[in-house]
Amino acid sequence: MKKILFITIIFLNITNFKSFASDSLNIINKKVNFGFATNSNRSINSVIVHSTFNNSGGDKYDIDLVIKQFSTYVVSAHYVIGRDGEIYQLVDEKDNSYHAGKSSLPDGTTNVNSCSIGIELMTSYTESPTEEQTKALLNLINDIKTRYPIKYVLRHSDIAPVRKTDPWNFDWDSFKKRLEAIKK
Ligand SMILES: [Zn+2]
Repeated sequence: MKKILFITIIFLNITNFKSFASDSLNIINKKVNFGFATNSNRSINSVIVHSTFNNSGGDKYDIDLVIKQFSTYVVSAHYVIGRDGEIYQLVDEKDNSYHAGKSSLPDGTTNVNSCSIGIELMTSYTESPTEEQTKALLNLINDIKTRYPIKYVLRHSDIAPVRKTDPWNFDWDSFKKRLEAIKK
């Protein structure tokens, strides 16, 4: 009897944790019709973290203005995370979003868009990501890791060091430590 109770408690804890993890991800649909290639056969093994903001006048953190700017350059990302931690999805994970550009992974892969999920944090050149954004990023990457064998979680500046400096003003070492700490 005791054993059954013990197992039940463990089971409840696991299911509670799982429902907590998915409940905390409130994804807002902002799917776009540009800046990606359909590809339902791709193998995802990387997550690339970026920074972006609307640099074309108006609110620099307005998601619709950021998307409009992406449309001008025919680029995208799978997700954009707003200043309050809201997560917008622009492209289906199964498709190749154009977020990485000319870049390469540590294992030599150069077509990074084909095997990665791109996540943009809305930050400017002078502001850091907020704690809410950082938490949302941790939750989102953790969720992605449950669905794909993720080999690399990297900054855009790691895969295109000559061209790119994003994500800006982000304590990456501290972020990676928090991400590692989530691992069971
Ligand atoms: Zn970038």
